[in-house]
Amino acid sequence: MSDISVIGLGKMGAALARCLLRSGLDVTVWNRSLEKTVPLTDLGAEAAENLSKAVAASPILLICISNHDATKVLLEQAGVDLLLSGRVVVQCSSDTPKEAEEAATWMRGRGATYLNGAILAGPDDIGTKDATILFSGDPVAFEASAAALTALGEETVHYLGENVRQASALDLAWLMLIYGKYFSGIHAANICRSEDVALDRLIDLIPDDPWSQGYLEVIRDESFDHHTASLGVWGDALAHIRTQGVDAGINTEIPDFFASFFQKAIDAGYADSHVLALSRVLQKSK
Ligand code: NAP
Repeated sequence: MSDISVIGLGKMGAALARCLLRSGLDVTVWNRSLEKTVPLTDLGAEAAENLSKAVAASPILLICISNHDATKVLLEQAGVDLLLSGRVVVQCSSDTPKEAEEAATWMRGRGATYLNGAILAGPDDIGTKDATILFSGDPVAFEASAAALTALGEETVHYLGENVRQASALDLAWLMLIYGKYFSGIHAANICRSEDVALDRLIDLIPDDPWSQGYLEVIRDESFDHHTASLGVWGDALAHIRTQGVDAGINTEIPDFFASFFQKAIDAGYADSHVLALSRVLQKSK
């Protein structure tokens, strides 16, 4: 038996698995494309041959794939969901508060206890003081998995309580702040370019905001090939924000507006680029 099984070894899932291994836990890993298990087995993880074996290997299952729908389809395959009884499922794939609630019900129906996770950080931050990770849901599930989850950030992992919707809600609100900054930064850079002002002058004006300086440098250098979360992943998260708005009956014009530029960028072939490749479709007037 392992302490924890990690399902999904994309950029974020692999970072979580690496961090758990570093903390000394026994970790089993599984990914749809099996080759992504190799860097983790090199670090001491056990690779499961198939999903059933990954689920059976540990009392705690940490999932980090694209979203909740994909998780449900995956776990229903070949009756894997029948193995969930008695296990703690920690969902770290992003989705909406409503999906979190539905997932909790779905897991309860299969005898599992459930925590919904929200990672407010990039893969490179996992395990550092910058990796805020929120969980909400069954307190029994948090108690049973707290030792493993705090390995992801002793001071930065927070349990928000029994209302399973909370982690996702706070995640979407936090992300919305970042979309605002990205779009403002792109337009600020456009003003500088169009008036022949070096972008470095703008960057120098905000010495107390290294985070914004960093993304303005990405826009300045057009360094869109390297990233820790693709434009496609950011676009999916924006879709969750829009869906939450529809579900909650709030105005969605701001996320709708942002989403139109994501669609343009995806249509132009930037889904696998840095999110700030958005600036490529926002430089010209229409
Ligand atoms: P990614 O690098 O694109 O990896 C996606 C992962 O999901 C891969 O392991 C992929 O498997 C798997 N996957 C996708 N669809 C699947 C399906 N239908 N069945 C089974 N596996 C499937 O994405 P990521 O950046 O790791 O993001 C994963 C989750 O973490 C997302 O929900 C994202 O919102 C969240 N997150 C990411 C970040 C970040 O900075 N990257 C930050 C916070 C939250 P294959 O390898 O076989 O394609």
